[in-house]
Amino acid sequence: MTTANLNTASEMIHSTGAKIIDGRLHARRLREELRIKAAELLAKFGAPPKLTVILVGDDAASRLYVSNKSKACRDVGIESVVITLPASSTLDTLLAVIEEQNRDASVHGILVQLPLPRHLPVHAVLERIAVEKDVDGFHLYNVGSLAVGTAVFPPCTPYGVQKLLEAEGIPIAGQNVVVVGASNIVGKPTAMMLMQRDATVCICHAKTRDLAQFTILADILVVAAGRPNLIVSQMVKTGAVVIDVGINRLPDGKIVGDVDFDGVSQKASYITPVPGGVGPMTVTMLLANTITAAQRMWGEPSHARAP
Ligand code: NAD
Repeated sequence: MTTANLNTASEMIHSTGAKIIDGRLHARRLREELRIKAAELLAKFGAPPKLTVILVGDDAASRLYVSNKSKACRDVGIESVVITLPASSTLDTLLAVIEEQNRDASVHGILVQLPLPRHLPVHAVLERIAVEKDVDGFHLYNVGSLAVGTAVFPPCTPYGVQKLLEAEGIPIAGQNVVVVGASNIVGKPTAMMLMQRDATVCICHAKTRDLAQFTILADILVVAAGRPNLIVSQMVKTGAVVIDVGINRLPDGKIVGDVDFDGVSQKASYITPVPGGVGPMTVTMLLANTITAAQRMWGEPSHARAP
């Protein structure tokens, strides 16, 4: 291949019609604001905001996520404590640990890393976390608050999606939003949060017939299915905003989203890359929720804005 050919190939790969939404940049900016808030709280109350993460078992991916969360906490001045329990722990043991953290006034946020070992019932565990410390937003009370539009702790990934749209100045009200994926953690709360912002929302899932007939209508397309290349350019309206939440590891080790980035970026007006799009925002919103929890516990005005 000649140098000229190489240049052309590289231009094709990098030329894109869409603006690439830089999640790392937006996350960094938000973390700078959070660092200031954490320092203000430390100065005023003599203690930092504090997050307890409970990890049951030794799943390698979960350990990595937990260590990333701890590092992110340190980065902005949030104290983080990781409590690790053996995979064989009983429900009673886990609930007792949660109760202890609920009672500890120095702890503002509690997070139980998911997935849990199969013998532990997720809902019974999440319902035990004190609602005012539920910084993941998975307690039924907080899920209900999200449904009625008064959420204090929006779930972190959908919250990150919303923040990216806001940071890019992308209007939400009146837009046709199509969310692909209907999980409790990503798809459903994303749909509720954007509906609360007056979007017209459609949720698609694995049983949706002819996915393209819905996605083609989207002004804002949010994809969270966990299927590489699920969304190709023919399924996307020209000028659409495409937010790719998916994280998939291909057999060659490469990490990709659910959207054919090269094809769709020629047609969309905005697109998030994977990695470097929604991912960095998820942990950042956990930090934001933890600071909100501390502000509320200390009676400070909270900067949280209900979605
Ligand atoms: P999940 O498996 O719980 O839910 C997937 C949803 O996608 C389901 O509703 C399913 O019906 C739907 N779906 C699956 N195949 C489909 C298809 N062919 N067509 C239409 N819909 C289909 O997954 P999840 O926890 O919601 O995560 C979704 C993806 O987002 C995964 O790749 C996950 O790794 C990623 N994720 C990323 C972040 C982040 O921070 N970027 C956070 C959470 C999850």
